[in-house]
Amino acid sequence: MKLTYEVIRLDLRHTWTIARGSSDYKQNVIVRLEQDGVVGYGEAAPNTRYDETPESTVALIEQAIPLFAGADPWHFVELERAIRELQPAQTAAKAGLDMALMDWVTKTLEVPLYRYLGLDPAMTPMTTYTIGIDTPDVIAEKVREAAPYPRLKIKLGSDRDEEIVAAVRSVTDKPLLVDANEGWRDKHQALERIRWLEGQGTFAIEQPMPADRLEDMAWLRERVKVPLLADESVRTAADIPRLAEAFDGINIKLMKAGGLQEALRMIGMARALGLKVMLGCMVETSLAVSAAAALSPLAELADLDGNLLIKDDPFTGVTVDQGRLVLSGDPGLGAQPRK
Ligand code: MG
Repeated sequence: MKLTYEVIRLDLRHTWTIARGSSDYKQNVIVRLEQDGVVGYGEAAPNTRYDETPESTVALIEQAIPLFAGADPWHFVELERAIRELQPAQTAAKAGLDMALMDWVTKTLEVPLYRYLGLDPAMTPMTTYTIGIDTPDVIAEKVREAAPYPRLKIKLGSDRDEEIVAAVRSVTDKPLLVDANEGWRDKHQALERIRWLEGQGTFAIEQPMPADRLEDMAWLRERVKVPLLADESVRTAADIPRLAEAFDGINIKLMKAGGLQEALRMIGMARALGLKVMLGCMVETSLAVSAAAALSPLAELADLDGNLLIKDDPFTGVTVDQGRLVLSGDPGLGAQPRK
């Protein structure tokens, strides 16, 4: 198999601010895997939270080129295991490689990935649309722009939480998913914020406290009603068992998991432990978002809006109708390079 890649720049519609920092653009890496006249595409969205840059992503992909050169793509389970063993972790790069592999396999079989997995495309969940941290005026404007989305996700976790919620609530009474991105450092402060948010139409809260504070999270969970979801606390299936007491559900992202095959293992493990499953994403094109959306009939919550945050999406794929994810029906991951 011939493996090539390209670093692409994605300009954002709005400056993107969360508890960790701000950015105006994102650099992702598109992976291209070719054999027998069929091209599989994958995407890596490196995240500095996980020690990933475009350069470190490319370095891991370079390591994989000889692996793919001699491999049989139909042994994709074995090949994915070999990719996982490459060091350092660099799960975004591995996600791009596994996506390209599964795109090639299902395109060659001429079936959409969801069909290959036995999933009903009518069972996709609603996706939230994310409003980043901003001034009250800009937040109110973004909430108005988000009119087609019945559920919003808002980013909190700074000392501006109250003004942000007030700005959102000045425009809409839509149900909110709150993402604190590890921003509440003290369990008593977190408890106070969560109880307040329960009175503000919040249906779930993502990662209230720093990733390793599982005892504090278990303490919080005993004291609140709203479901608490792990994001930064969980990357791969091996992380899940120790989260079962601390959280009600997990946010699975292909970029953290290292691909579709690991994401499927995570969904199985989360279900076995009675945890809710949410599918999320980074800032990504419609390629990676379509790949995650293909698994979404297995999830009750989705935040698959990364492609909606960029200006010139180089791929087409999954769309959203009144908040619900609509899978394209094309063979493979369901995404195509934009002509
Ligand atoms: Mg999150």
